[in-house]
Amino acid sequence: MALEIKILDYGDIELENSFLVLGHNCGRTRRVPVYGFLILGGPWPILVDTGYRDNAIMESLGMRGLQFHENMIENQLARFDVKPGDVRYILHTHLHIDHAGKDDHFPMNTTSVINRRELECSVSGLMHPQYPKPDIQHLIERLHTKDALRFLDLELTDGEEICPGVWCEPANAHTEGSMNVVVETADGLANICGDVIYDFQDQIIDPVYQVSDLEPHVTGNHAGSKRQEKAAIKKLLNNYRYLCPIHDKPALIENQKVIGRLEGQIPGPISQSVPKRDWFPV
Ligand SMILES: [Zn+2]
Repeated sequence: MALEIKILDYGDIELENSFLVLGHNCGRTRRVPVYGFLILGGPWPILVDTGYRDNAIMESLGMRGLQFHENMIENQLARFDVKPGDVRYILHTHLHIDHAGKDDHFPMNTTSVINRRELECSVSGLMHPQYPKPDIQHLIERLHTKDALRFLDLELTDGEEICPGVWCEPANAHTEGSMNVVVETADGLANICGDVIYDFQDQIIDPVYQVSDLEPHVTGNHAGSKRQEKAAIKKLLNNYRYLCPIHDKPALIENQKVIGRLEGQIPGPISQSVPKRDWFPV
């Protein structure tokens, strides 16, 4: 059976737009989804990210959480007949407030998988409010429980396999320890790319403030350089058929361009096709 990725809807968040797209629509509020991804068809279910703890915790960043009953992680997994205890691995793109809030809903024999650099970042005091205390404390509990945590060293290994057809790679963007999850589907490679991309339209399809050809725009929330962010985005556009960020609908990619958008599952029906912006013939 081929690997499939199901989209889990953990609820929305409201935040200021320039946090998502650098310098764009400053002061305007924007509502975005928070997704998780369930990988099925392998030896056991694998989950990518767990969303935010509750609506109240988003206020610590001046953001608004919109998580309702149907968005509870147990209810999202139940749509695919999966219970928390069935999940073998939880892979974390990174440990920000909206990505690792529900690991404590899973038993300790479900292993959380983290790039070691990212756990270091979460306790470095840099970007401190984005790594909330209860989430990180729970991960420290796991650190002291046999097999509850698995570390990757992606800066040094370049990639580590989780099961045949699923592996993690360093994102080299967003946070120092962010990682991407690559899934081999029947229709090519999908990359679950965390917060390396926030917004396909404003960063890639019609990137704001960019004059040069094929120049992506960066998010308003990153730890490294703009050059590094752009390179990480270009690498994604060059190497993968599907890109699945956490706060925007997945995209179908061809020749480094977004040609379609999906919802629900990957591979899956195209919900919206995006016209190619080709060069003008003379
Ligand atoms: Zn996020």
